[in-house]
Amino acid sequence: MSEQTSFFENVNKSFDKAAKFTKWEQGILEQIKAANSVLRIKFPLKRDDGSIEVIEAYRVQHSHHKAPCKGGIRFSEAVNQDEVMALAALMTYKCAIVNVPFGGGKGGIKINPKKYSEFELQKITRRYTSELVKKNFIGPGIDVPAPDYGTGAREMAWILDTYTSLHPGEVDAAGCVTGKPVTQGGVRGRTEATGLGVFYGIREVCNTHKVMDKLGLTLGVGDKKVIVQGLGNVGFHTAKFFRAFGAKVIAIAEYEGAIYNENGLNEEEVFQHRKKTGSILNFPGATNIPKSSDALELECDILIPAALEGVITKENADRIKAKIIGEAANGPLTVDADEVLSKKGIVVVPDMYLNAGGVTVSYFEWLKNLSHVRYGRMEKRFTENMNKQILGQIEDMTGKKVGSAERLLIEHGADEVDLVYSGLEETMISATREIMDVWDSNPEIPDMRTAAFIVAINKVGTAYDELGIFP
Ligand code: NAD
Repeated sequence: MSEQTSFFENVNKSFDKAAKFTKWEQGILEQIKAANSVLRIKFPLKRDDGSIEVIEAYRVQHSHHKAPCKGGIRFSEAVNQDEVMALAALMTYKCAIVNVPFGGGKGGIKINPKKYSEFELQKITRRYTSELVKKNFIGPGIDVPAPDYGTGAREMAWILDTYTSLHPGEVDAAGCVTGKPVTQGGVRGRTEATGLGVFYGIREVCNTHKVMDKLGLTLGVGDKKVIVQGLGNVGFHTAKFFRAFGAKVIAIAEYEGAIYNENGLNEEEVFQHRKKTGSILNFPGATNIPKSSDALELECDILIPAALEGVITKENADRIKAKIIGEAANGPLTVDADEVLSKKGIVVVPDMYLNAGGVTVSYFEWLKNLSHVRYGRMEKRFTENMNKQILGQIEDMTGKKVGSAERLLIEHGADEVDLVYSGLEETMISATREIMDVWDSNPEIPDMRTAAFIVAINKVGTAYDELGIFP
Protein backbone atom coordinates (compact mmCIF):
# COMPACT_ATOMS: atom_id res chain seq x y z
CA MET A 1 0.00 0.00 0.00
CA SER A 2 1.16 3.54 -0.64
CA GLU A 3 1.37 5.52 2.53
CA GLN A 4 -1.25 8.10 1.25
CA THR A 5 -3.68 6.54 -1.23
CA SER A 6 -6.52 4.10 -0.55
CA PHE A 7 -6.06 0.33 -0.76
CA PHE A 8 -8.27 0.02 -3.86
CA GLU A 9 -6.40 2.89 -5.55
CA ASN A 10 -3.16 1.13 -4.77
CA VAL A 11 -4.30 -2.11 -6.35
CA ASN A 12 -5.33 -0.10 -9.41
CA LYS A 13 -1.95 1.65 -9.47
CA SER A 14 -0.17 -1.71 -9.69
CA PHE A 15 -2.74 -2.74 -12.32
CA ASP A 16 -2.05 0.38 -14.43
CA LYS A 17 1.70 -0.16 -14.19
CA ALA A 18 1.22 -3.65 -15.68
CA ALA A 19 -1.54 -2.70 -18.15
CA LYS A 20 1.01 -0.69 -20.17
CA PHE A 21 2.63 -3.98 -21.15
CA THR A 22 -0.63 -5.46 -22.51
CA LYS A 23 -2.54 -4.95 -25.77
CA TRP A 24 -5.99 -4.27 -24.29
CA GLU A 25 -7.88 -1.12 -25.17
CA GLN A 26 -8.70 1.31 -22.37
CA GLY A 27 -12.39 0.31 -22.16
CA ILE A 28 -11.61 -3.34 -21.49
CA LEU A 29 -8.99 -2.36 -18.91
CA GLU A 30 -11.56 -0.13 -17.15
CA GLN A 31 -14.05 -3.02 -17.11
CA ILE A 32 -11.46 -5.42 -15.67
CA LYS A 33 -10.66 -2.93 -12.89
CA ALA A 34 -14.24 -2.05 -11.98
CA ALA A 35 -15.92 -3.60 -8.94
CA ASN A 36 -19.11 -4.93 -10.58
CA SER A 37 -21.46 -5.22 -7.58
CA VAL A 38 -21.14 -3.73 -4.12
CA LEU A 39 -23.58 -4.71 -1.38
CA ARG A 40 -23.59 -2.70 1.84
CA ILE A 41 -25.95 -3.81 4.56
CA LYS A 42 -26.81 -2.82 8.09
CA PHE A 43 -28.78 -5.00 10.46
CA PRO A 44 -29.57 -5.06 14.18
CA LEU A 45 -27.99 -7.40 16.71
CA LYS A 46 -29.56 -8.00 20.09
CA ARG A 47 -26.59 -8.44 22.40
CA ASP A 48 -26.44 -10.84 25.32
CA ASP A 49 -27.05 -7.94 27.75
CA GLY A 50 -30.28 -7.02 25.90
CA SER A 51 -28.94 -3.89 24.14
CA ILE A 52 -29.35 -3.42 20.38
CA GLU A 53 -26.38 -2.72 18.12
CA VAL A 54 -26.33 -1.93 14.40
CA ILE A 55 -23.88 -4.09 12.45
CA GLU A 56 -22.28 -2.87 9.21
CA ALA A 57 -21.33 -5.44 6.58
CA TYR A 58 -20.29 -5.75 2.94
CA ARG A 59 -20.05 -8.18 0.07
CA VAL A 60 -18.32 -7.15 -3.13
CA GLN A 61 -18.40 -9.09 -6.38
CA HIS A 62 -15.52 -7.58 -8.27
CA SER A 63 -15.77 -9.53 -11.50
CA HIS A 64 -18.38 -11.69 -13.20
CA HIS A 65 -16.21 -12.87 -16.10
CA LYS A 66 -16.43 -16.29 -14.45
CA ALA A 67 -19.04 -17.66 -12.07
CA PRO A 68 -19.28 -18.09 -9.16
CA CYS A 69 -17.45 -15.23 -7.44
CA LYS A 70 -15.09 -16.36 -4.72
CA GLY A 71 -13.45 -14.73 -1.72
CA GLY A 72 -13.24 -14.78 2.05
CA ILE A 73 -15.26 -13.05 4.73
CA ARG A 74 -13.31 -10.89 7.14
CA PHE A 75 -14.40 -9.98 10.68
CA SER A 76 -12.43 -6.88 11.63
CA GLU A 77 -13.02 -3.41 13.01
CA ALA A 78 -10.98 -2.02 10.11
CA VAL A 79 -13.47 -3.29 7.47
CA ASN A 80 -14.71 -0.60 5.08
CA GLN A 81 -16.01 -0.52 1.52
CA ASP A 82 -12.66 0.47 0.01
CA GLU A 83 -10.84 -2.40 1.71
CA VAL A 84 -13.43 -5.00 0.65
CA MET A 85 -13.35 -3.69 -2.95
CA ALA A 86 -9.54 -3.90 -3.01
CA LEU A 87 -9.50 -7.42 -1.58
CA ALA A 88 -12.22 -8.52 -4.03
CA ALA A 89 -10.19 -7.13 -6.94
CA LEU A 90 -7.11 -9.01 -5.74
CA MET A 91 -9.23 -12.18 -5.69
CA THR A 92 -10.13 -11.70 -9.36
CA TYR A 93 -6.46 -11.44 -10.30
CA LYS A 94 -5.39 -14.21 -7.93
CA CYS A 95 -7.92 -16.69 -9.32
CA ALA A 96 -6.94 -15.81 -12.89
CA ILE A 97 -3.23 -16.38 -12.22
CA VAL A 98 -3.70 -19.80 -10.64
CA ASN A 99 -6.36 -20.84 -13.19
CA VAL A 100 -9.14 -21.19 -10.67
CA PRO A 101 -12.28 -20.50 -12.73
CA PHE A 102 -13.95 -17.94 -10.44
CA GLY A 103 -14.58 -14.22 -10.43
CA GLY A 104 -13.22 -12.27 -7.46
CA GLY A 105 -15.35 -11.52 -4.40
CA LYS A 106 -14.84 -10.52 -0.79
CA GLY A 107 -16.98 -9.92 2.28
CA GLY A 108 -16.47 -8.07 5.51
CA ILE A 109 -18.28 -7.45 8.76
CA LYS A 110 -17.11 -4.44 10.73
CA ILE A 111 -16.68 -6.02 14.16
CA ASN A 112 -13.90 -7.09 16.46
CA PRO A 113 -14.89 -10.74 16.98
CA LYS A 114 -13.06 -10.83 20.33
CA LYS A 115 -15.67 -8.44 21.75
CA TYR A 116 -18.64 -10.78 21.08
CA SER A 117 -19.79 -14.04 22.62
CA GLU A 118 -19.99 -17.17 20.49
CA PHE A 119 -23.78 -16.90 20.48
CA GLU A 120 -23.61 -13.26 19.28
CA LEU A 121 -21.11 -14.18 16.54
CA GLN A 122 -23.40 -16.96 15.41
CA LYS A 123 -26.38 -14.56 15.22
CA ILE A 124 -24.28 -12.04 13.23
CA THR A 125 -23.01 -14.70 10.80
CA ARG A 126 -26.46 -16.22 10.25
CA ARG A 127 -28.14 -12.84 9.73
CA TYR A 128 -25.38 -11.79 7.31
CA THR A 129 -25.92 -15.04 5.36
CA SER A 130 -29.69 -14.59 5.16
CA GLU A 131 -29.13 -11.02 3.88
CA LEU A 132 -26.84 -12.46 1.19
CA VAL A 133 -29.54 -15.01 0.30
CA LYS A 134 -32.20 -12.26 0.05
CA LYS A 135 -30.00 -10.24 -2.32
CA ASN A 136 -28.92 -13.32 -4.31
CA PHE A 137 -25.30 -12.75 -3.26
CA ILE A 138 -24.55 -16.34 -2.24
CA GLY A 139 -24.90 -19.78 -3.85
CA PRO A 140 -22.74 -22.53 -5.36
CA GLY A 141 -23.07 -20.95 -8.81
CA ILE A 142 -23.33 -17.31 -7.69
CA ASP A 143 -20.87 -16.35 -4.96
CA VAL A 144 -18.98 -18.65 -2.60
CA PRO A 145 -17.46 -17.17 0.58
CA ALA A 146 -14.58 -18.68 2.57
CA PRO A 147 -12.67 -17.89 5.79
CA ASP A 148 -10.47 -14.82 6.07
CA TYR A 149 -9.06 -12.74 8.91
CA GLY A 150 -11.16 -13.36 12.04
CA THR A 151 -13.23 -16.23 10.64
CA GLY A 152 -12.71 -19.98 10.35
CA ALA A 153 -14.39 -23.35 9.84
CA ARG A 154 -16.92 -22.61 12.61
CA GLU A 155 -18.35 -19.55 10.83
CA MET A 156 -18.39 -21.43 7.51
CA ALA A 157 -20.49 -24.20 9.10
CA TRP A 158 -23.02 -21.55 10.31
CA ILE A 159 -23.15 -20.07 6.82
CA LEU A 160 -23.74 -23.51 5.30
CA ASP A 161 -26.50 -24.31 7.77
CA THR A 162 -28.29 -20.99 7.22
CA TYR A 163 -28.05 -21.28 3.43
CA THR A 164 -29.23 -24.91 3.42
CA SER A 165 -32.21 -24.15 5.64
CA LEU A 166 -33.29 -21.42 3.19
CA HIS A 167 -32.76 -23.71 0.15
CA PRO A 168 -34.30 -27.03 1.17
CA GLY A 169 -33.58 -29.80 -1.32
CA GLU A 170 -30.84 -27.93 -3.19
CA VAL A 171 -28.56 -30.86 -3.90
CA ASP A 172 -25.39 -28.77 -4.42
CA ALA A 173 -25.97 -26.51 -1.41
CA ALA A 174 -22.69 -27.58 0.30
CA GLY A 175 -20.85 -25.71 -2.48
CA CYS A 176 -22.23 -22.36 -1.22
CA VAL A 177 -19.20 -21.84 1.04
CA THR A 178 -15.70 -23.35 1.42
CA GLY A 179 -13.34 -23.80 4.35
CA LYS A 180 -15.98 -25.90 6.09
CA PRO A 181 -15.15 -28.55 8.69
CA VAL A 182 -14.29 -31.86 6.95
CA THR A 183 -17.38 -33.45 8.52
CA GLN A 184 -19.56 -30.80 6.81
CA GLY A 185 -18.18 -31.22 3.28
CA GLY A 186 -14.77 -29.59 3.81
CA VAL A 187 -11.67 -31.00 2.16
CA ARG A 188 -8.56 -32.41 3.85
CA GLY A 189 -5.51 -30.17 3.46
CA ARG A 190 -7.39 -26.84 3.56
CA THR A 191 -5.91 -25.73 6.92
CA GLU A 192 -2.28 -25.85 5.79
CA ALA A 193 -3.04 -24.95 2.13
CA THR A 194 -1.90 -21.32 2.15
CA GLY A 195 1.38 -22.04 3.95
CA LEU A 196 2.08 -25.04 1.73
CA GLY A 197 1.32 -22.95 -1.37
CA VAL A 198 3.75 -20.28 -0.15
CA PHE A 199 6.40 -22.97 0.23
CA TYR A 200 5.75 -24.49 -3.23
CA GLY A 201 5.84 -21.03 -4.85
CA ILE A 202 9.13 -19.97 -3.22
CA ARG A 203 10.68 -23.38 -3.87
CA GLU A 204 9.93 -22.95 -7.58
CA VAL A 205 11.52 -19.49 -7.55
CA CYS A 206 14.56 -21.05 -5.82
CA ASN A 207 14.69 -23.68 -8.58
CA THR A 208 14.91 -21.00 -11.30
CA HIS A 209 18.52 -20.65 -12.51
CA LYS A 210 18.19 -17.13 -13.81
CA VAL A 211 16.81 -15.67 -10.59
CA MET A 212 19.17 -17.50 -8.29
CA ASP A 213 22.22 -16.63 -10.40
CA LYS A 214 21.21 -12.97 -10.30
CA LEU A 215 20.83 -13.11 -6.52
CA GLY A 216 24.09 -15.02 -6.09
CA LEU A 217 22.28 -17.92 -4.40
CA THR A 218 22.54 -21.66 -5.00
CA LEU A 219 19.58 -23.54 -6.49
CA GLY A 220 17.00 -25.12 -4.16
CA VAL A 221 15.60 -24.37 -0.71
CA GLY A 222 17.65 -26.92 1.28
CA ASP A 223 20.44 -24.58 2.39
CA LYS A 224 18.41 -21.40 2.80
CA LYS A 225 18.02 -19.27 5.90
CA VAL A 226 14.44 -18.16 6.40
CA ILE A 227 12.77 -15.58 8.66
CA VAL A 228 9.03 -15.77 9.29
CA GLN A 229 6.90 -12.95 10.70
CA GLY A 230 3.64 -14.16 12.31
CA LEU A 231 3.20 -17.64 13.75
CA GLY A 232 -0.49 -17.87 12.85
CA ASN A 233 -2.06 -20.24 10.35
CA VAL A 234 -0.02 -19.14 7.33
CA GLY A 235 3.31 -18.44 9.08
CA PHE A 236 3.24 -21.66 11.09
CA HIS A 237 2.65 -23.90 8.10
CA THR A 238 5.09 -22.02 5.87
CA ALA A 239 7.80 -22.50 8.53
CA LYS A 240 6.83 -26.15 8.90
CA PHE A 241 7.25 -26.96 5.21
CA PHE A 242 10.51 -25.00 4.86
CA ARG A 243 11.97 -26.93 7.81
CA ALA A 244 10.66 -30.25 6.48
CA PHE A 245 12.52 -29.62 3.21
CA GLY A 246 15.83 -28.81 4.91
CA ALA A 247 15.79 -25.01 5.20
CA LYS A 248 16.62 -23.29 8.51
CA VAL A 249 14.03 -20.97 10.03
CA ILE A 250 16.51 -18.75 11.89
CA ALA A 251 14.04 -16.19 13.29
CA ILE A 252 10.34 -16.02 14.08
CA ALA A 253 8.62 -12.73 14.90
CA GLU A 254 5.34 -12.33 16.78
CA TYR A 255 3.78 -9.12 17.98
CA GLU A 256 5.32 -9.36 21.49
CA GLY A 257 8.88 -9.80 20.15
CA ALA A 258 11.06 -12.10 18.06
CA ILE A 259 13.52 -14.94 18.63
CA TYR A 260 16.67 -15.92 16.76
CA ASN A 261 18.73 -19.08 16.50
CA GLU A 262 21.20 -19.46 13.64
CA ASN A 263 20.91 -23.27 13.87
CA GLY A 264 17.19 -23.11 13.11
CA LEU A 265 13.96 -23.06 15.14
CA ASN A 266 11.29 -25.75 15.31
CA GLU A 267 7.95 -23.97 14.75
CA GLU A 268 5.95 -26.61 16.63
CA GLU A 269 8.13 -26.30 19.74
CA VAL A 270 7.99 -22.49 19.50
CA PHE A 271 4.21 -22.65 19.15
CA GLN A 272 3.91 -24.88 22.25
CA HIS A 273 6.28 -22.60 24.20
CA ARG A 274 4.17 -19.57 23.29
CA LYS A 275 0.99 -21.39 24.27
CA LYS A 276 2.47 -22.35 27.62
CA THR A 277 4.18 -19.08 28.56
CA GLY A 278 2.03 -16.60 26.66
CA SER A 279 5.05 -15.27 24.75
CA ILE A 280 7.43 -16.29 22.01
CA LEU A 281 10.32 -14.78 24.03
CA ASN A 282 12.70 -16.81 26.22
CA PHE A 283 12.50 -19.87 23.96
CA PRO A 284 15.27 -22.28 25.05
CA GLY A 285 18.45 -21.89 22.98
CA ALA A 286 17.23 -18.76 21.15
CA THR A 287 18.20 -15.09 21.50
CA ASN A 288 15.42 -12.62 22.30
CA ILE A 289 14.80 -9.68 19.97
CA PRO A 290 12.59 -7.38 22.07
CA LYS A 291 11.51 -5.13 19.18
CA SER A 292 9.71 -7.57 16.90
CA SER A 293 10.15 -5.61 13.67
CA ASP A 294 13.97 -5.72 14.07
CA ALA A 295 13.76 -9.38 13.02
CA LEU A 296 12.74 -8.27 9.51
CA GLU A 297 16.10 -6.54 9.13
CA LEU A 298 18.34 -9.51 9.95
CA GLU A 299 20.63 -11.17 7.41
CA CYS A 300 18.77 -14.05 5.67
CA ASP A 301 18.00 -15.53 2.23
CA ILE A 302 14.21 -15.56 2.41
CA LEU A 303 11.93 -13.28 4.43
CA ILE A 304 8.29 -14.33 4.84
CA PRO A 305 5.96 -11.64 6.22
CA ALA A 306 2.91 -13.70 7.22
CA ALA A 307 1.16 -11.41 9.70
CA LEU A 308 -0.38 -8.14 8.57
CA GLU A 309 -0.45 -5.57 5.79
CA GLY A 310 1.98 -2.63 5.61
CA VAL A 311 4.85 -4.03 7.73
CA ILE A 312 7.61 -3.01 5.30
CA THR A 313 7.41 0.69 4.48
CA LYS A 314 9.76 3.29 3.01
CA GLU A 315 10.98 3.77 6.59
CA ASN A 316 12.51 0.29 7.02
CA ALA A 317 12.78 -0.97 3.39
CA ASP A 318 16.34 0.20 3.01
CA ARG A 319 17.47 -1.87 5.99
CA ILE A 320 16.03 -5.18 4.69
CA LYS A 321 18.86 -7.64 3.95
CA ALA A 322 16.86 -10.62 2.62
CA LYS A 323 17.45 -11.65 -1.02
CA ILE A 324 13.90 -12.92 -1.55
CA ILE A 325 10.70 -11.67 0.10
CA GLY A 326 7.71 -14.02 -0.06
CA GLU A 327 4.51 -12.09 0.54
CA ALA A 328 2.51 -14.68 2.46
CA ALA A 329 0.31 -11.99 4.06
CA ASN A 330 -1.90 -9.76 1.92
CA GLY A 331 -0.22 -6.41 1.21
CA PRO A 332 2.77 -6.62 3.62
CA LEU A 333 4.75 -4.10 1.51
CA THR A 334 3.73 -0.53 0.76
CA VAL A 335 4.11 0.66 -2.85
CA ASP A 336 6.95 2.94 -1.73
CA ALA A 337 8.74 0.05 -0.01
CA ASP A 338 8.28 -2.07 -3.12
CA GLU A 339 10.16 0.50 -5.18
CA VAL A 340 13.05 0.70 -2.71
CA LEU A 341 13.35 -3.11 -2.57
CA SER A 342 13.15 -3.44 -6.34
CA LYS A 343 16.02 -0.96 -6.74
CA LYS A 344 18.07 -2.95 -4.22
CA GLY A 345 17.61 -6.03 -6.47
CA ILE A 346 15.52 -7.93 -3.92
CA VAL A 347 13.06 -10.34 -5.56
CA VAL A 348 9.57 -9.80 -4.16
CA VAL A 349 7.29 -12.79 -4.79
CA PRO A 350 3.85 -11.15 -4.82
CA ASP A 351 0.98 -11.97 -2.45
CA MET A 352 -1.52 -12.01 -5.29
CA TYR A 353 -0.36 -15.41 -6.38
CA LEU A 354 1.96 -16.62 -3.59
CA ASN A 355 -0.83 -16.92 -1.02
CA ALA A 356 -3.29 -18.45 -3.52
CA GLY A 357 -3.02 -21.88 -1.88
CA GLY A 358 -6.15 -21.19 0.16
CA VAL A 359 -8.35 -20.35 -2.81
CA THR A 360 -6.88 -23.19 -4.87
CA VAL A 361 -7.79 -25.77 -2.26
CA SER A 362 -11.16 -24.03 -1.81
CA TYR A 363 -11.72 -24.71 -5.50
CA PHE A 364 -10.96 -28.41 -4.86
CA GLU A 365 -13.45 -28.34 -1.98
CA TRP A 366 -16.14 -26.80 -4.20
CA LEU A 367 -15.50 -29.45 -6.89
CA LYS A 368 -15.78 -32.15 -4.21
CA ASN A 369 -19.12 -30.68 -3.08
CA LEU A 370 -20.49 -30.64 -6.62
CA SER A 371 -19.32 -34.19 -7.32
CA HIS A 372 -20.57 -35.48 -3.94
CA VAL A 373 -17.63 -37.87 -3.58
CA ARG A 374 -14.41 -37.76 -1.57
CA TYR A 375 -11.21 -37.47 -3.60
CA GLY A 376 -9.52 -40.86 -3.91
CA ARG A 377 -12.58 -42.89 -2.96
CA MET A 378 -12.97 -44.47 -6.38
CA GLU A 379 -9.34 -45.22 -7.25
CA LYS A 380 -7.33 -45.65 -4.03
CA ARG A 381 -7.82 -49.42 -3.64
CA PHE A 382 -7.62 -50.02 -7.39
CA THR A 383 -4.21 -48.28 -7.53
CA GLU A 384 -2.96 -50.17 -4.48
CA ASN A 385 -3.99 -53.53 -5.91
CA MET A 386 -2.36 -52.68 -9.23
CA ASN A 387 0.88 -51.56 -7.53
CA LYS A 388 0.94 -54.79 -5.49
CA GLN A 389 0.62 -56.80 -8.70
CA ILE A 390 3.44 -54.90 -10.42
CA LEU A 391 5.72 -55.15 -7.39
CA GLY A 392 4.99 -58.89 -7.09
CA GLN A 393 5.92 -59.40 -10.76
CA ILE A 394 9.17 -57.45 -10.32
CA GLU A 395 10.08 -59.46 -7.22
CA ASP A 396 9.35 -62.74 -9.04
CA MET A 397 11.44 -61.71 -12.03
CA THR A 398 14.43 -60.42 -10.03
CA GLY A 399 14.25 -62.89 -7.16
CA LYS A 400 14.71 -59.97 -4.75
CA LYS A 401 12.34 -58.57 -2.10
CA VAL A 402 11.57 -54.87 -1.66
CA GLY A 403 12.04 -53.51 1.92
CA SER A 404 8.89 -52.83 3.98
CA ALA A 405 9.26 -49.00 4.02
CA GLU A 406 9.70 -48.88 0.23
CA ARG A 407 6.82 -51.33 -0.21
CA LEU A 408 4.47 -49.01 1.68
CA LEU A 409 5.60 -46.07 -0.41
CA ILE A 410 5.25 -47.81 -3.78
CA GLU A 411 1.95 -49.58 -3.06
CA HIS A 412 0.21 -46.59 -1.52
CA GLY A 413 -2.91 -45.39 -3.40
CA ALA A 414 -3.65 -41.66 -3.16
CA ASP A 415 -5.78 -40.40 -0.25
CA GLU A 416 -7.73 -37.16 -0.45
CA VAL A 417 -4.91 -35.18 1.17
CA ASP A 418 -2.30 -36.60 -1.27
CA LEU A 419 -4.40 -35.48 -4.23
CA VAL A 420 -5.04 -32.04 -2.73
CA TYR A 421 -1.29 -31.51 -2.10
CA SER A 422 -0.50 -32.73 -5.60
CA GLY A 423 -3.07 -30.42 -7.20
CA LEU A 424 -1.74 -27.50 -5.17
CA GLU A 425 1.88 -28.26 -6.08
CA GLU A 426 1.00 -28.41 -9.79
CA THR A 427 -0.94 -25.14 -9.51
CA MET A 428 1.84 -23.21 -7.76
CA ILE A 429 4.60 -24.54 -10.02
CA SER A 430 2.66 -23.72 -13.21
CA ALA A 431 1.72 -20.25 -11.96
CA THR A 432 5.32 -19.45 -10.96
CA ARG A 433 6.62 -20.56 -14.35
CA GLU A 434 3.97 -18.60 -16.24
CA ILE A 435 4.83 -15.42 -14.32
CA MET A 436 8.58 -16.01 -14.74
CA ASP A 437 8.13 -16.49 -18.51
CA VAL A 438 6.30 -13.16 -18.79
CA TRP A 439 8.93 -11.43 -16.64
CA ASP A 440 11.68 -12.88 -18.85
CA SER A 441 9.91 -11.90 -22.07
CA ASN A 442 10.54 -8.16 -21.69
CA PRO A 443 13.47 -6.52 -19.87
CA GLU A 444 11.28 -3.43 -19.28
CA ILE A 445 9.00 -5.35 -16.89
CA PRO A 446 10.42 -4.17 -13.56
CA ASP A 447 9.40 -6.86 -11.11
CA MET A 448 7.53 -10.09 -10.48
CA ARG A 449 4.42 -8.26 -9.20
CA THR A 450 4.05 -6.45 -12.52
CA ALA A 451 4.58 -9.73 -14.38
CA ALA A 452 1.88 -11.38 -12.22
CA PHE A 453 -0.55 -8.53 -12.95
CA ILE A 454 0.16 -8.87 -16.69
CA VAL A 455 -0.73 -12.58 -16.54
CA ALA A 456 -3.97 -11.76 -14.68
CA ILE A 457 -4.96 -8.88 -16.98
CA ASN A 458 -4.40 -11.01 -20.07
CA LYS A 459 -6.57 -13.84 -18.76
CA VAL A 460 -9.47 -11.65 -17.60
CA GLY A 461 -9.13 -9.47 -20.74
CA THR A 462 -9.34 -12.55 -22.96
CA ALA A 463 -12.50 -13.67 -21.16
CA TYR A 464 -14.21 -10.28 -21.62
CA ASP A 465 -13.04 -10.10 -25.22
CA GLU A 466 -14.22 -13.59 -26.15
CA LEU A 467 -17.49 -13.40 -24.22
CA GLY A 468 -18.30 -10.14 -25.98
CA ILE A 469 -19.76 -7.00 -24.42
CA PHE A 470 -23.55 -6.60 -24.22
CA PRO A 471 -24.80 -3.75 -26.43
P1 NAD B 1 -3.60 -15.50 11.84
O1 NAD B 1 -4.43 -14.58 12.61
O2 NAD B 1 -3.75 -16.98 12.02
O3 NAD B 1 -2.02 -15.20 12.11
C1 NAD B 1 -1.46 -13.93 12.13
C2 NAD B 1 -0.33 -13.96 13.17
O4 NAD B 1 0.42 -12.75 13.09
C3 NAD B 1 -0.85 -14.06 14.61
O5 NAD B 1 -0.19 -15.11 15.30
C4 NAD B 1 -0.51 -12.69 15.21
O6 NAD B 1 -0.22 -12.74 16.60
C5 NAD B 1 0.72 -12.32 14.40
N1 NAD B 1 0.98 -10.88 14.41
C6 NAD B 1 0.10 -9.87 14.49
N2 NAD B 1 0.73 -8.68 14.47
C7 NAD B 1 2.05 -8.95 14.38
C8 NAD B 1 3.20 -8.14 14.32
N3 NAD B 1 3.12 -6.81 14.34
N4 NAD B 1 4.42 -8.75 14.24
C9 NAD B 1 4.51 -10.09 14.21
N5 NAD B 1 3.43 -10.91 14.25
C10 NAD B 1 2.22 -10.35 14.34
O7 NAD B 1 -3.80 -15.09 10.32
P2 NAD B 1 -3.44 -15.94 9.02
O8 NAD B 1 -4.64 -16.66 8.56
O9 NAD B 1 -2.16 -16.67 9.24
O10 NAD B 1 -3.20 -14.75 7.98
C11 NAD B 1 -1.98 -14.01 7.94
C12 NAD B 1 -1.95 -13.19 6.66
O11 NAD B 1 -2.06 -14.06 5.53
C13 NAD B 1 -3.08 -12.16 6.51
O12 NAD B 1 -2.56 -11.04 5.82
C14 NAD B 1 -4.09 -12.87 5.64
O13 NAD B 1 -4.92 -11.97 4.92
C15 NAD B 1 -3.15 -13.63 4.72
N6 NAD B 1 -3.78 -14.79 4.07
C16 NAD B 1 -4.30 -15.81 4.81
C17 NAD B 1 -4.87 -16.91 4.16
C18 NAD B 1 -5.37 -18.10 4.92
O14 NAD B 1 -5.73 -19.10 4.27
N7 NAD B 1 -5.39 -18.09 6.23
C19 NAD B 1 -4.95 -16.93 2.74
C20 NAD B 1 -4.41 -15.86 2.03
C21 NAD B 1 -3.83 -14.79 2.71
